[in-house]
Amino acid sequence: MKKENIAPFFATLQAANPAPETELEYSTPFELLAAVLLSAQATDVGVNKATRKLFPVANTPQAIVDLGEEGLAEYIKTIGLYKSKARHLVQASRMLVELHGGEVPRSRAELEALPGVGRKTANVVLNVAFGEATIAVDTHIFRVGNRTGLAPGKTPLEVELKLEKRVPPEYRLHAHHWLILHGRYVCVARKPKCYDCAVAAYCDFKPKTPAPKGT
Ligand code: SF4
Repeated sequence: MKKENIAPFFATLQAANPAPETELEYSTPFELLAAVLLSAQATDVGVNKATRKLFPVANTPQAIVDLGEEGLAEYIKTIGLYKSKARHLVQASRMLVELHGGEVPRSRAELEALPGVGRKTANVVLNVAFGEATIAVDTHIFRVGNRTGLAPGKTPLEVELKLEKRVPPEYRLHAHHWLILHGRYVCVARKPKCYDCAVAAYCDFKPKTPAPKGT
């Protein structure tokens, strides 16, 4: 993507959705951390279904520790990889209680030290809960970054570093959500909906998908 196309690309996404939000339901940094941890290889809809039952019962690190791995597994067993997620969430909660007074830490290093929390999860928490301009590269952002030519890279980290360099500062805080939502609903994996894409004029992808016949 040409440099001069980057600002209009984001301005267009911003105009359509000025204050994008995560589709995961949460009301505290810990609820967000738990939801993101549960969301690996699962849909936000599936995670929300489980956390709507879990959070009224346990939404603090201490309450999750008290629930224990088996108790927690009962609430999240509809989510993929639930056994390892239950283990990680209980271990992470214990660390939060023992090392951080039951609070979610604000630094990347401390977040990444929690079991089950990688760079992507840490980036989401820093961005969504604490308003930092981090960009967590998930499968949607990886695809959109490469396909559009905005931030080509062979690994999520390469794409993340390229985005950090190329996204204008005024768009960085929300870039994560704009790109995810664009990838989830328009620039979809199998066949991008270029015919219905507001940013097609700025995107390098060729050939663009034509409108289906009869529309
Ligand atoms: S034009 Fe097509 S490939 Fe480019 S961003 Fe839009 S949907 Fe994706």
